Amino acid sequence: METIFTKIRDGVIPSVKLHEDELCFVILDINPVNKGHLLVITNECHPTLADCPEATLAHLMGVVQRADAKLREALGCDATNIVINNGEESGQEVKHLHIHVIPRYKGDQKHFRLAKEHYEEGEMERLGRRLEF
Ligand code: 5GP
Repeated sequence: METIFTKIRDGVIPSVKLHEDELCFVILDINPVNKGHLLVITNECHPTLADCPEATLAHLMGVVQRADAKLREALGCDATNIVINNGEESGQEVKHLHIHVIPRYKGDQKHFRLAKEHYEEGEMERLGRRLEF
């Protein structure tokens, strides 16, 4: 399947590429939350996490770790957000698995907090039993 990221991978659409290997490539996000916001993208188009082989996912996390270290070293950021929008309803715009690595700074006001719910008495335990795997 062709996506905007396969076009970037193939050089049809220009990008600032930071890394590439046999399973993934890394580019700067064109609309960064903070400058240096990057995307770790699978070479093959796996639309969501469920479609991606486990070995590829394991590799991606190693690349994310190196990207996180590079952002801290080069930009002096205090922290990072590591984000996967996994499916359209979660906010995923490009249906080609990618991991956002976003540099964060003390006081930068770029909050990622989602609105939260509360459990009724006993509900969390009952749900936990349904979700064991
Ligand atoms: P999603 O919402 O799917 O998790 O994130 C897709 C990301 O891809 C967005 O943050 C968006 O800014 C980025 N993006 C979309 N098109 C392009 C592009 O052509 N070039 C680059 N570098 N980033 C893009």
